[in-house]
Amino acid sequence: MTGQVMPTYARMPVTFARGEGAWLWSVDGKRYFDAIAGIAVCNLGHAHTAVARALCDQAGKLVHTSNLYGIDLQEQLATEICALSGLDNVFFCNSGAEANEAALKLARKYGHEKGLSRPHVIVMDNGFHGRTLFTLSATGNAKVQEGFEPLVDSFIRVPYGDADAVAAIKHPEVAAVLVEPVQGEGGVRVPPAEYLPALRRLCDERGWLLMLDEVQCGMARTGAWFGFQHTGILPDVMTLAKALGNGVPIGACLARSQAAEVLTAGRHGSTFGGNPLACRAALSVIATLRKENLVARAGELGRTLLDGFRKAFAGNTHVIEVRGKGLMIGIELDAPCAELTQRALDQGFLINVTAERTIRLLPPLILSDDETQYLIDGVVRLVNDFTAR
Ligand code: PLP
Repeated sequence: MTGQVMPTYARMPVTFARGEGAWLWSVDGKRYFDAIAGIAVCNLGHAHTAVARALCDQAGKLVHTSNLYGIDLQEQLATEICALSGLDNVFFCNSGAEANEAALKLARKYGHEKGLSRPHVIVMDNGFHGRTLFTLSATGNAKVQEGFEPLVDSFIRVPYGDADAVAAIKHPEVAAVLVEPVQGEGGVRVPPAEYLPALRRLCDERGWLLMLDEVQCGMARTGAWFGFQHTGILPDVMTLAKALGNGVPIGACLARSQAAEVLTAGRHGSTFGGNPLACRAALSVIATLRKENLVARAGELGRTLLDGFRKAFAGNTHVIEVRGKGLMIGIELDAPCAELTQRALDQGFLINVTAERTIRLLPPLILSDDETQYLIDGVVRLVNDFTAR
């Protein structure tokens, strides 16, 4: 490492040279089991042949033109995601933060069109929405906000999973609610089943937009194409990124009904957003998720992992809770456990710790049964060794 990359990440001491499925090989040839999939990005695993072939083919034809012109692949991708989600249209960008930035701008403009002079957005404690100034301001984590004040101040924050706390807000200038269907960075928090339906009803009653950040939990990870589909509601706005391109940068902000009419020509844009290469990648991701039946498989694997961990940790009093939805799994310990990421690495596993004491697993959706058992055995060994100290 040259030291000329800005040190915005405290990187672990490993560099990867190649990957295949759930496995990565470091530059010095050691093999690792990737149980975080690039933080919920490589849902199809590494170097999936369908995506690789689509990318090579598209790179030889057309990588980029401009959003000043028609882009057939963008139209096709919009049609696919709208059909899968039930929303009406899509703005394409390059990341989760940009997708949420688009959603927040949409909410502002929607509010102004309704006559609000300072439209506010309700957001959640421990929510994570990105690192641009607007999305950082929406994020519920003082540590990542520190040093970047003044933040955008038009947010109202309430506890996650508590629809009554949202109902109690009487502020006259609310335009929207922004919430993750399952919180990822916040510690893999699954809200009560009634939570999103209750928010939907409130938003309908009060004329607020219900905006769902599916950047981490979308694209089949929870065992449904999108996290909200476990609940039977439809949001007004939904954001995607991460797994949409399986590692090729692409983000999307979808909207429905009235919300779909807010961002008109000249009101928002992106040079790269939805270019032919990125859209071709995303189309191959969707086709592969469908062809390999990975939406249902994510749900099935998630149940196997949750069962396996719950049984294995039943007698371990240091494990507070095993929770999750599909392949978003959290194992909360009774003490900070960040050092587990290094211990796991030493044993050939990539895992993550979030919210200080929750082990987060976000493995690819293409795991075989043997690989699933290998992951359970590895993590159980790691946690039991750690808590036995
Ligand atoms: N929203 C959620 C729920 C996320 O988990 C993340 C990233 O972890 C983001 C937004 C930001 O995405 P990006 O890093 O692509 O900007």
